[in-house]
Amino acid sequence: MRSFRALLLAGATAAALTIGGIAPATAASLPAAVTPTPTPTPSASTAAPQTTPTPTPTPAVTPKPTATTPAPATPSAPQPAATATPSPTPKPTATPTPKPTTPPAPVFRQPLAAKSYTVSSHFGPRCIPVQGGSTYHYGVDMAARAGQPIYAIAAGVVTATVTGTSSRAGYIAVRHTISGAQYTSIYMHIWSATTHVKVGQTVSAGQRISQVGSSGVSSGNHLHLELWKATSTGSAAQNAATFLKPRGVDLYAAAAAVNAKPTPATCTYYTVGGVNFRTGPSTSYSIIRMLPRATAVVHVPGTITTGFIPVRVGSQQGWVSAGLVTPTKLTPAPAAVPPPAPAPKPATYATTAALNLRATASMSARIQLVIPKGANVGPIAASSGDWRKVTYAGKTGWVHSAYLVKR
Ligand SMILES: [Zn+2]
Repeated sequence: MRSFRALLLAGATAAALTIGGIAPATAASLPAAVTPTPTPTPSASTAAPQTTPTPTPTPAVTPKPTATTPAPATPSAPQPAATATPSPTPKPTATPTPKPTTPPAPVFRQPLAAKSYTVSSHFGPRCIPVQGGSTYHYGVDMAARAGQPIYAIAAGVVTATVTGTSSRAGYIAVRHTISGAQYTSIYMHIWSATTHVKVGQTVSAGQRISQVGSSGVSSGNHLHLELWKATSTGSAAQNAATFLKPRGVDLYAAAAAVNAKPTPATCTYYTVGGVNFRTGPSTSYSIIRMLPRATAVVHVPGTITTGFIPVRVGSQQGWVSAGLVTPTKLTPAPAAVPPPAPAPKPATYATTAALNLRATASMSARIQLVIPKGANVGPIAASSGDWRKVTYAGKTGWVHSAYLVKR
């Protein structure tokens, strides 16, 4: 039961994460009426990337119990039609926990009718699409018309129905037992989650469970399909397309088009304010320096640890909080645009000969002192004909301009 709950939480977390990113890719393939309004959700950023889901496509955790064979020795094979005959074995190993509510799921079906959708975003690493968005996409996005039926990809039990709003992505979760392992498929961005199913209901592969919507942070109508596999520690995100293909359901081949963009080797983001550039992925690591707003940072998509992403700034490697960068190019801080024009520094002068410093601008005026050759007399305070008012050794007076040179 705990893992079941963890699974749900993981799905919900991923939902909050990934929805932000659907916008750009989907927009291209949508009807013109859809306006892409990727509302940044900065709050989601901090909480979301905490769990670094190790996307192991096929982690062989559970040995396949040969479900078809009776397995006489071990009573662990969960046979639904077990007729509950008390096992004559003396030691009840307590393991056989029969799950009569979860039927086997050997058949797989398209979540949307073939050729009725386009693949608008791949599963896996991606550039953070909006501030607060995730650098990892936990689902496969299929853009389709509003109201188009969504079908369960396999038989299972409905474990969650969350109705969507404009700010919250609605979804239905269905738990499957596949080859002895527990999986949960999640169908996101729906509006009403309970029109066709309710929690606890058993559904068959290909049964209609919902319809395409655009709830939550979404640029347009599409199905975001996630698949999670229960593990000993929680759950691991699976690429639904990769999982389904060898099982007879090819999401890509059945798409009318694939508009998803390939993930680049690196993504460039911009700091949204003064952001600490740290030596490691938490605030307990030391600060290399403060990055001013609009600093470009380069990131390898998909890598994230406890909400921090490793980035390169120039030639320097460090970490920044994932929620404090945006893919939108920013201009440097507006305050710094007009650098306070430094008052033009007045030129200073020096003497080219020993020079009399006179009390007034006249050859006949009293000599206050003799300024030596090469002395600095500072800026000129005033002019009068060929005479210049300067200060030397604390005395202000007039000297002849013929013996001054600009320093
Ligand atoms: Zn998505």
